Amino acid sequence: MKTVPVHKDLQDLSLFFTRAGFSVYLVGGAVRDSFLGTTATDWDIATNASPQAVTSLFHRVIPTGIEHGTVTIPFRGHMIECTTFRTEQGYSDGRHPDSVAYAATIEEDLSRRDFTMNAIAVTLPGGAVVDPFDGRKDITRKIIRTVGNPAERFAEDGLRTLRAVRFSTLPGFTIEQATFDAIRPALPVTARVAVERVREELVKLVSGAEPLTGLGYLESSGLLELFLPELAECRGIEQKGRHRFDVLDHSFLACAAAPREDLIVRLSALFHDVGKPHTRAVDDHGNYTFHRHEAVSADITKSVLERLRFPNRTVTEVCHLVRMHMFHYEPVWTDAAVRRFMVAAGVENLDRLFSLRRADTAAISGHTGPLPDLVELQSRIDGIVAKKQGLTLRDLAVNGNDLKNEGIRNGPAIGLILHELHEAVLDDPALNTKDRLMEIARAFCREKNIAT
Ligand code: ATP
Ligand code: MG
Repeated sequence: MKTVPVHKDLQDLSLFFTRAGFSVYLVGGAVRDSFLGTTATDWDIATNASPQAVTSLFHRVIPTGIEHGTVTIPFRGHMIECTTFRTEQGYSDGRHPDSVAYAATIEEDLSRRDFTMNAIAVTLPGGAVVDPFDGRKDITRKIIRTVGNPAERFAEDGLRTLRAVRFSTLPGFTIEQATFDAIRPALPVTARVAVERVREELVKLVSGAEPLTGLGYLESSGLLELFLPELAECRGIEQKGRHRFDVLDHSFLACAAAPREDLIVRLSALFHDVGKPHTRAVDDHGNYTFHRHEAVSADITKSVLERLRFPNRTVTEVCHLVRMHMFHYEPVWTDAAVRRFMVAAGVENLDRLFSLRRADTAAISGHTGPLPDLVELQSRIDGIVAKKQGLTLRDLAVNGNDLKNEGIRNGPAIGLILHELHEAVLDDPALNTKDRLMEIARAFCREKNIAT
């Protein structure tokens, strides 16, 4: 029987089990990833010890999913998910087994796992491979295949269809035909999956090594229409002009061209043009226009991300990038125009906004290197930042208290005046001294009849 190397910490952990007479295996993603040549960050183990027995073996375990037989063992800085061998019957809600029964053998436990590549176990501490469904062969051939009959497996648990599509973003992977064909009939089951789980899988899909494959399957299986109908509507929206692709292919390509490690940019690339179907018009020359589509796209993106219960911060950041994505820098921009752009975008968002622009451009023309206009704009921005030329309200040489000390009553007038001062400084940073700004403030109050 083939054996594989086992991490020292896992070997040591397993002795707690084996010395008490239990068996224990490494399972799941860590085993799959080791055969893929990548190192997994988290470990799942399976054992014939009951959750109570596991709890008594260690001085601290966390009952993370005790109703499914799962506890988490903190061990030498790892958080190890430990699940008692399971066999399951009845999934009337399309997600949770109605009852969890414990299985006697690892083979039985593996048989209820989703895909052959996820149904391989490694004995601990020895490292012998248990592979009853030929998962290693499918990993070598880069094929995603359900353990057993795909229609039955998807009917048991609607999350599995999304997981199949998500795993297809692994480099070079495809979904085996019979497994793929079983996704569409299972959509009513998938529709009942908790939205948080759907979101988690979509995040993993979008963050995958090859998101284009997953996005393609998402559409062809009907899952896109089910969970992201706003994007599905972009299919067939032709754009002409510089564009070779319709809005949906363009969006998919932009998402794939965005940096993998930045979910915010990948999501904003995916949704940046989602308002186009709603804003398309034809101009006098017969060309399509999409006037103000960035604002409509941002609104639609907000409702999609909120529906999927993304954290507020993610929603805000993604929508802001989508709303800002249509800036058009030209060398004739004055420094004041550059400063205004910096304020509107927020200096802290510029890296991402430029990253989105590079992905957007790559998805139109295939061009991937640096973009000359962005390089120039960046260097002008760097110059402005280096000179600390009062950019935000907080950087003004005058604050609300200074105005109050001048006798201006606390209230809306203070905000109005600060805004006016900010505009003045954006036009001419040399005005950012207390004396000059107080002069401007007094003149503004006289002009607007604000009592001082
Ligand atoms: P990831 O890299 O995302 O952690 P993973 O394969 O480890 O991938 P987990 O969600 O951590 O995914 O699940 C661990 C293992 O549990 C899977 O490899 C699979 O064997 C099994 N599993 C997870 N979800 C399901 C499911 N819905 N149905 C059947 N088995 C599942
Ligand atoms: Mg895992």
